Amino acid sequence: MFGFLKKVGSYSREAVDAAKYLVQGLAVTFDHMRRRPVTVQYPYEKLIPSERYRGRIHYEFDKCIACEVCVRVCPINLPVVDWVMNKETKKKELLNYSIDFGVCIFCGNCVEYCPTNCLSMTEEYELASFDRHNLNYDNVALGRLPTNVTSDPSVQPLREFAYLPKGAIDPHELPRNTPRAGKLPSEVLESINASTSTEKATNDHNEIKQKTE
Ligand code: SF4
Ligand code: SF4
Repeated sequence: MFGFLKKVGSYSREAVDAAKYLVQGLAVTFDHMRRRPVTVQYPYEKLIPSERYRGRIHYEFDKCIACEVCVRVCPINLPVVDWVMNKETKKKELLNYSIDFGVCIFCGNCVEYCPTNCLSMTEEYELASFDRHNLNYDNVALGRLPTNVTSDPSVQPLREFAYLPKGAIDPHELPRNTPRAGKLPSEVLESINASTSTEKATNDHNEIKQKTE
């Protein structure tokens, strides 16, 4: 009898859970039914990639120590580290470094494990090419600074749905006084100059104070 009651209890619990999951799933469906399709007029408008978007890899040649950790942790041993041993200094001499983005799966393992942080993932996703061999980037191509949707004056950056204020669905319909997402290069320069002059003024003030004491 006790066993039977236990089975009934467990069955009821599972039935309640199933109903709960069903309602949760339908809530997502009904939430989407309220939304309208949003058209992004690419390439004049572009969505801002998510914060941890894994795009084209950026590489700093000067920081690389040719340890080949990136090759060992890569699931397909993709990065090519071209180095020779300098017999005089008994140190590795890095000649070239390349990653083929036609093969890379953008897992980010190489970036995660690089001991000198010379690799980083950028938000650059426009890698289309007519020839797949053009996707094999050498250290010069990898060292190019990435394009940035928020700092390109020729592009209207649009926030993705997850980054819109509560209740907003279409990024085009944000109020006119909403600040532009991200800063333009000129604005970045202005803020750097402003912070440098404030820092200088503070230092001067501290120096004068120390001399008078
Ligand atoms: S793990 Fe980093 S430092 Fe080592 S070879 Fe790769 S890129 Fe260079
Ligand atoms: S992102 Fe992943 S697949 Fe691409 S080179 Fe790095 S470890 Fe290899």
